[in-house]
Amino acid sequence: MEKIFGNIINGIEETGGERIELKSPVDGSLIGYIIDTDKDTVERAIQSSREAFNKFYLESTIKSRQELIGKLTDIVQEKATIYADLESKNTGKTIRQSTFMDIPLAISHIRYFAETDEFKFQRKITHPEYPGTEGIVQNAPMGVVASIAPWNVPFLMAVWKIIPPVLAGNAVVIKPSHYTPLTAIELVKDMKAAGFPDGLVNLVNGTGRTTGNLLVNSDHVDMVSFTGSTPTGSRIMEQAAKNIKKVSLELGGKSPNIVFADADLDHAVKGVIFGIFLNAGQLCESASRLIIEESIMDKFLQKVKTYLDSMKSGNPMDFETDISAITTKEQKEKIESLISQTVKSGGNIFYSKNMQGTPDKGTYFPPTLLTGLTPGQQISDEEIFGPVLTVYPFKSEKEAIDLANSTKYGLAAGIWTKDIEKAGRVASMIEAGTVWVNEYHLLSAAAPRGGFKKSGIGRELGLEGILEYTQTRHIFYGNNESGMSDVAYGILI
Ligand code: NAD
Repeated sequence: MEKIFGNIINGIEETGGERIELKSPVDGSLIGYIIDTDKDTVERAIQSSREAFNKFYLESTIKSRQELIGKLTDIVQEKATIYADLESKNTGKTIRQSTFMDIPLAISHIRYFAETDEFKFQRKITHPEYPGTEGIVQNAPMGVVASIAPWNVPFLMAVWKIIPPVLAGNAVVIKPSHYTPLTAIELVKDMKAAGFPDGLVNLVNGTGRTTGNLLVNSDHVDMVSFTGSTPTGSRIMEQAAKNIKKVSLELGGKSPNIVFADADLDHAVKGVIFGIFLNAGQLCESASRLIIEESIMDKFLQKVKTYLDSMKSGNPMDFETDISAITTKEQKEKIESLISQTVKSGGNIFYSKNMQGTPDKGTYFPPTLLTGLTPGQQISDEEIFGPVLTVYPFKSEKEAIDLANSTKYGLAAGIWTKDIEKAGRVASMIEAGTVWVNEYHLLSAAAPRGGFKKSGIGRELGLEGILEYTQTRHIFYGNNESGMSDVAYGILI
């Protein structure tokens, strides 16, 4: 029977409208259909969120919102294996990664927002210029936030795009990627079960060209929270400018992993492999550039090769499989085209793993290492978003920093050394929103995250991530007894 995964508007699943096929990257099978939501429906979803915002914000407190988020944590935790299964079938990421990383990490982030006491909503101030007066500075919600998410880590992204804005008092209309909407749909259904009011979070499916575009251009949305590619982010910022709509943009990356000769090399090899091949390189902060001290390069690459040889390709739904599929056919074609152009222009394929054991009809690409490259080449500068590691040797600390900062992106970086002073010195010179030292990919809900340069504007997670969904109001309480008003008025009357 045909399965239609509908929109969720005002607590009801709606399945009418133009359909889009949803295919599994694991084996190419048809999972079902989603709706390419039209203008009237998008506006109806926004209106429903507006009404829920007007009511819920006034009636709720941070504490009452946190209680609901806490109930949601329990429900999602109960269903963790269902979420992991859905996520892997829809994205092609290994079931091991969904089960032990993506889903538990997302649940821990929901729990963080249920429990944090960082967000205070308002604070008292005095005005040194006007003795006897005082003020309240409030972090008021934006209103209706349109959240637009990418396809690579759909559940974690849905959590980041829904929970912090709701905690800050907003209503949300979320549009997941039309490739990977399943766990976001499940999350919004579970919000109803947790007791969130209908309409506070509505979900509309569809492509960016149709539904995404309608959300960004609606006059009735107060903020766009976008995670996706840099070109789309740029387009969204341009469109949002037309009616001075606030945007937060979490965009692409081209992150470096810098390995110094004094690093614990066995630890660093694992870090470099984890940095680029987790999720088959389809993570915004994937460490796609290895910047390595020349004196250890040959030895280190041999170690990487040996390790990759031991990794298992196969069906991602099998717990033994190490390497994820490529989530979309379009993405696989983009990776293939970038590699063939690089080889034509003199790049060297140092390693490309045999992908025996993967299903015939899925979308897979072998872990690949490319050497003989320089900054400025397309493959060195552009986000690949695939399991491809490019390698650059350096001789001095300065050269390593210059190489790390040589792209237009600035999302994340890794530094591998036993010299912690050097690590701190180098980290402070890296143009990136997150720098890991002797670690990679570890995300904490307490730590703000976002990009320098063309990797974005704004922050997610941490206190900064909650404040992103607020606007500041200052209420000035005068004190007539102090006579200040009379002094001020005396200037004019
Ligand atoms: P994308 O830019 O193609 O699409 C992202 C979302 O925007 C999708 O929901 C899409 O439907 C929608 N969209 C596309 N065009 C639109 C338009 N004109 N108006 C409104 N919405 C539109 O990105 P993608 O291919 O889905 O995801 C991969 C990208 O996301 C990579 O560049 C990756 O680095 C980035 N990413 C960044 C972060 C981060 O935190 N910085 C996290 C995950 C992914």
